[in-house]
Amino acid sequence: MRTLKDLDPRGKRVLVRVDYNVPLKDGQVQDETRILESLPTLRHLLAGGASLVLLSHLGRPKGQDPRYSLAPVAEALKKHIPSVRFVPHTPGSEEAHRAVQDLAPGEVALLENVRFEAGEERNDPELSARYARLGEAFVLDAFGSAHRAHASVVGVARLLPSYAGLLMEKEVRALSRLLHEPERPYAVILGGAKVSDKIGVIEALLPRIDRLLIGGAMAFTFLKAQGGEVGKSLVEEDRLELARSLLERAEAQGVRVHLPQDVVAAQGIEAGIPTQVFPADAVPQPYMGLDIGPKTREAFTEALKGVRTAFWNGPMGVFEVPPFDEGTLSVGRALAALEGAFTVVGGGDSVAAVNRLGLKDRFSHVSTGGGASLEFLEKGTLPGVEVLE
Ligand code: ADP
Ligand code: MG
Repeated sequence: MRTLKDLDPRGKRVLVRVDYNVPLKDGQVQDETRILESLPTLRHLLAGGASLVLLSHLGRPKGQDPRYSLAPVAEALKKHIPSVRFVPHTPGSEEAHRAVQDLAPGEVALLENVRFEAGEERNDPELSARYARLGEAFVLDAFGSAHRAHASVVGVARLLPSYAGLLMEKEVRALSRLLHEPERPYAVILGGAKVSDKIGVIEALLPRIDRLLIGGAMAFTFLKAQGGEVGKSLVEEDRLELARSLLERAEAQGVRVHLPQDVVAAQGIEAGIPTQVFPADAVPQPYMGLDIGPKTREAFTEALKGVRTAFWNGPMGVFEVPPFDEGTLSVGRALAALEGAFTVVGGGDSVAAVNRLGLKDRFSHVSTGGGASLEFLEKGTLPGVEVLE
């Protein structure tokens, strides 16, 4: 990839695609992580004498919906870089084009949500050409969007001299280490809602790993595939065959698979609802399994001992609603306790768990991309990486 080392930003107007898809509540940014993660690149370019034009998406607006305006993000960003101003025009518009003409070195303009542009997601060439007029060089630092072949990620990168930002570089370096000559033993811990989201990554990693720990709702598809009784737990009925075949392939490749032995179950998901622990293959109606149980927490902690490389994606239970967060927290602690191992966590909810525990610094890498990190591990590259090569 071409990186910032290949770019002399002095006197240039640099267009930077960042990922400011942050959670908002009542017009306030709830979690600044993604803003903070963009600062090294922005500061590097500003110190080098550039002016900056920033592009980002926010949410999934249908058309120009003011609830998805980036104005609150500009307010939050200003606290870190005072020379930021918000341009309330979409990046493909004449107004936006005019507004960035007089930027002086050191100044930063954040334009309105790229997804307010109809052509953004279908990578419209005309829209990409309009974006390309906003700067003289393009820096892609939105790792969380690098799996999307959209106009502000891939389209514009083809039209300007383009470079990976520091966050992008850091992410690609860390995730590449999970693919190329990882130290063994190597464990992958998967959880979250659906098997179907994670099939590709399981298939790609099976030949490389030693241990596969499966929790979360996706475990129930595997448990049912083995003939277990899972009550009302979430199961993807159309993936039972696939789950069986993944288990067979894992065995054939010498991967030790750890499924839950017991689960914490309830008749609903409300906080404070009575819970009961059942064997994972004997959850009666009308109970649903909502977290891994105490025996499983212990077994998973044991299975992670001595691991030299680990990748974790997806919570072990309905982490948002205590007490169903216990399993996720115990996996977070077990990984954080590994000394000298290379540990990576990716995925919105699993990263939130790690942050809540204050264990972020105990991981080698906390990925800002959920879908992007999974796709990178599956394919070894991303549309937004390829375009910078
Ligand atoms: P990540 O954001 O870390 O990639 P996912 O988005 O794949 O993770 O999955 C997170 C979701 O999975 C959470 O909303 C969580 O409540 C849900 N989940 C986890 N375990 C269960 C379960 N046993 N039953 C229902 N939902 C679950
Ligand atoms: Mg998620």
